[in-house]
Amino acid sequence: MLDEIGSLCPPRRILLGPGPSNVEPRVYEAMRTPIVGHLDPYFFEVAEDVRKLLQVVFGTKNQFTVAISGTGSAGMEAAVANFAEPGEKFAILANGYFCDRITEMARRYGAEVVRLEKPWGQPFSDDEASSFILRERPKVVAFVHAETSTGARQDGAAICRAAHEVGALVIADCVTSLGGMPVEVDATGIDIAYSCTQKGLSCPPGLAPLTVSDRAMGVLRARQGVPRTWYLDLKMLDDYYQGAHRYHHTAPITMFYALREALRVVVEEGLEARWQRHRRNHLGLVAGLEAMGLTMHVAEPYRLWMLNTPCVPEGIDDARVRRRLIESHGIEIFGGFGPLAGKVFRIGLMGASSTQENVLLLLEALEGAMRAEGYKPAGSGVEAAESFFAAHAA
Ligand SMILES: *Cc1c(COP(=O)(O)O)cnc(C)c1O
Repeated sequence: MLDEIGSLCPPRRILLGPGPSNVEPRVYEAMRTPIVGHLDPYFFEVAEDVRKLLQVVFGTKNQFTVAISGTGSAGMEAAVANFAEPGEKFAILANGYFCDRITEMARRYGAEVVRLEKPWGQPFSDDEASSFILRERPKVVAFVHAETSTGARQDGAAICRAAHEVGALVIADCVTSLGGMPVEVDATGIDIAYSCTQKGLSCPPGLAPLTVSDRAMGVLRARQGVPRTWYLDLKMLDDYYQGAHRYHHTAPITMFYALREALRVVVEEGLEARWQRHRRNHLGLVAGLEAMGLTMHVAEPYRLWMLNTPCVPEGIDDARVRRRLIESHGIEIFGGFGPLAGKVFRIGLMGASSTQENVLLLLEALEGAMRAEGYKPAGSGVEAAESFFAAHAA
């Protein structure tokens, strides 16, 4: 049997999709260190380090800042399950796939969901968001800061102002934004923010960073009855990680080591420098794509630096292009789905994957793959990106 199932030898990929991103070598090193028990004082020291580092990266002083066992969706479900109350109004600003996932969760937890909808990739203006919230007067408002299905950013300040005016809590999905662009939980006024490990933080998937304001913790403590989730009950998790250290579940120790190291890498680079790196590589990529004759799906001021969505030219099959990239170059990018199926490519430049070298590599490979599929590029993407990078020193 073991001649069939030999030792593990995964292909080397350049991960330029919507996550996971390539893992920092130092993070792999941290994962090779021996585990301790999930109630060992050393583990709680590591969890405490993770808390402090996450506070910096989230831009918050929130005491309740933890890493939930599970992927980004577990962070989403923890946020929804603890704050959506049966029969109470839960408002969602819906303009992409992950807004729909939040909707589905809120419905399953019994909330009365109200949605303001826009086409995928179009952000809500301050006025649109505020008047919706002031009219509906919900208990909770949720929005997606960086919509990975569309490549668009949604600013949160006006949403938070209007929500707080009517006494609502704000949940922000920061799964793709954390580590790649400013998140600023406290300055924005976000009450509950969650993320993942495998996108802007360049760690394997497995934990969901989550932060909750004191105000929101107060709402949680005053809540009638227990939430319908047991595994993601934040009061119990608080008791495990930060309170009496009472056993709740066996935390994935190795993932805590990994996240700790990934966050150390982020803080070492510096948040501002890291954001600028993501911005520069995004702009270099867009310069290249536009030189090839491609147009971007999202209007210029709202484009994410971590996830780029050029439109697929008429007559080109995006799946065939993507297959050429992975088979000939080991480069992973994704296509669109839902209303954007077949219409956009989704090219991630997240965390360790966001490098000038990867931008140039991808542009060259993409140009070759598109030519092979019959597309005639207007000009050289690589040359345009190279002159952008030359004119904009790192
Ligand atoms: C990836 C993603 C999620 C889900 O995270 P998983 O780690 O896949 O569970 C949620 N929201 C957004 C915006 C995402 O990009």
